[in-house]
Amino acid sequence: MSARCNLELARAAPEPTVPGVFAVGIDLGARIVHVVALDDSGTVQLAESVPAPDVATVLPALSSEAVVAIDAPDAQQVPRHLGDVALSPKFRPARCGEIALGSLRHYWVPWVTPPRGSPCAPWMITGFGVWRTVLQRGLRAIEVYPHAAFLELSGGSRLGRKTTAEGRRQRSDLLEAAGVDLQDLDVTCHDILDAAVAAVVARDARLGTADEVSCRHADGTGSDGSAIWLPQGRSRLLSRKDTTP
Ligand SMILES: [Zn+2]
Repeated sequence: MSARCNLELARAAPEPTVPGVFAVGIDLGARIVHVVALDDSGTVQLAESVPAPDVATVLPALSSEAVVAIDAPDAQQVPRHLGDVALSPKFRPARCGEIALGSLRHYWVPWVTPPRGSPCAPWMITGFGVWRTVLQRGLRAIEVYPHAAFLELSGGSRLGRKTTAEGRRQRSDLLEAAGVDLQDLDVTCHDILDAAVAAVVARDARLGTADEVSCRHADGTGSDGSAIWLPQGRSRLLSRKDTTP
């Protein structure tokens, strides 16, 4: 987390009403959450880093059309894939969304949500609280993985690490290409960039162009209901252009 992200903590909470905001992205740390809100024109209406318990105070008043994308699992699940020997041992206890994102789209998350009843990392526990806060406000929430979202926007290009200036520049360029006005975004803070790409996925989910990635169980056992969402990717945009008469 960069020093500039922490400096944001000193700022007063904004007015709770931001008109025209329908897409919010939230990136999680163990104690800090980073929130970016976009209006439909791609203008950044809010970009804040706050202690996790204060997330409700920086969520703008949102209409029922709004979508909030959260970089964290919503809940622990009972594993559905424990006996799947095609998976690495690390992923057998994972949730369906984590497994599908890897097996179907080739984006493997670096973590796995521990099965229900097992201890969790602090950032996941923070995330469960953020999910509760968002859902209690009656908002639609979706799960995202910012690294995969950036890769999807890049059309498969390699990205530098987000902790490097080059990696942050690449991500800024991808956000701009996705319609985000960078003027009011601290592009030196990779956590804010992650929150911004989460907001892009939220926008695309609202517009019906995002992909909900989860698995379908042909054996009738049923998915655990988890899903990780991706934005409308560059490859799909290009392929649609190619097929347009
Ligand atoms: Zn599954």
